[in-house]
Amino acid sequence: MKKIAILGSTGSIGTSTLSICEAFPDRYQPIALAAGSNVDLAFKQAARWRPQIISLSTQRHAETLKAHLAAVNITGIEVLFGTPGTIRVATLPEVEFVVSAIVGVAGLEATYAAVQAGKHIGLANKECLVAAGDLVLAAAQAKGVALLPIDSEHNAVHQCMRGGTPAEVAQVWLTASGGPFRNLPAEKFAAITPAQALKHPTWVMGQRITIDSATMMNKGFEVIEACHLFQLPPDRVRVTVHPQSTVHSLVEFVDGSILAQISVTDMRLPILYALAYPERPASNLKFDLSQLSQLDFSQPDLDRFPCLRLAYEAAASGPSACIALNAADEVAVAAFLSGQIPFLGIPDTIERVLELTPAHRPASIPEVLAIDQKARETAESVISQR
Ligand code: NAD
Ligand code: MG
Repeated sequence: MKKIAILGSTGSIGTSTLSICEAFPDRYQPIALAAGSNVDLAFKQAARWRPQIISLSTQRHAETLKAHLAAVNITGIEVLFGTPGTIRVATLPEVEFVVSAIVGVAGLEATYAAVQAGKHIGLANKECLVAAGDLVLAAAQAKGVALLPIDSEHNAVHQCMRGGTPAEVAQVWLTASGGPFRNLPAEKFAAITPAQALKHPTWVMGQRITIDSATMMNKGFEVIEACHLFQLPPDRVRVTVHPQSTVHSLVEFVDGSILAQISVTDMRLPILYALAYPERPASNLKFDLSQLSQLDFSQPDLDRFPCLRLAYEAAASGPSACIALNAADEVAVAAFLSGQIPFLGIPDTIERVLELTPAHRPASIPEVLAIDQKARETAESVISQR
């Protein structure tokens, strides 16, 4: 029985992880949960799983949860809050494996603490690697910790990499669905609404990543994530638009062979892979081969999707640009969702913040968070000056 912690248990990845625990009760037991502000779902999860500890983002949410638990006589669950609470969840001594699925840089400190504590990690939170890839990878190597990607593309690459040695890899191809605006003419981008951008054609996910998929910034983050995970330079991590989302990614080897990973469009499979690695338990997540009747691949359009270009530029420029890329995107996506800026204001804001961010290589997580904070403030001021 593997004892696991889930950071972001109430989110899209978090709930899918719990459904894997439900399907494999003899293999995985969630004993520590961390979430943000969804007290009702946190209560249901606490009541169902009886974790040793659960943490919410604020003291007020934690007090509400405690009262709910007391009202139904559930005792013995420690309720914590804030970053210290999330870090406790991530480092609880009995935990062997941590699923990192908090959205945004909010998940960074706890994920880093989990690595430092020697926990193996199932990594969904790509922002950790975008903002602090060098530090997280160095810590994982020093502690002998496995970073198993849950992001479907990286999970696919991880699987394909088992077919050769790192020196035999020529390049990696990340597939992109292209999002809801894959075929939209350039002149229509200015009028895109949040409701349109929140409709992803193939995946159901949290709000931030759904907007990031519509701008293709998500793919940009994934390029940076892949550079860190697989120790490749940005020009060997390529993107191909594949609207069917059935080939989750491909690895091209030096002899010309290309291995691809194909499976259902369901995050429970990469989660199961990460939890079970190096084993492959039997599951009912079967893929219907008849869906392979049509597979399309095409080049991404960097003019209509400037966020992808900005991500490649940030990857080439270095760590502070990548931190600013993520921070500015987080602020710009929130501003777009609240109607403050139009869709094209997202890349405009990020580009401006990147211009205003000096090059620097942070040596610690607090330094990363300081650059992140500064970039957020810059993004807010760029937005308010529009
Ligand atoms: P989501 O918005 O559905 O869930 C986010 C979770 O983080 C929630 O449980 C929320 O309560 C928690 N959270 C937010 N702020 C917090 C804070 N300050 N402290 C503690 N908890 C906090 O997001 P998601 O779609 O599940 O994505 C999670 C991560 O996984 C993201 O980094 C995303 O890029 C990545 N990812 C998601 C998918 C997907 O299919 N959903 C696929 C690949 C990668
Ligand atoms: Mg992905």
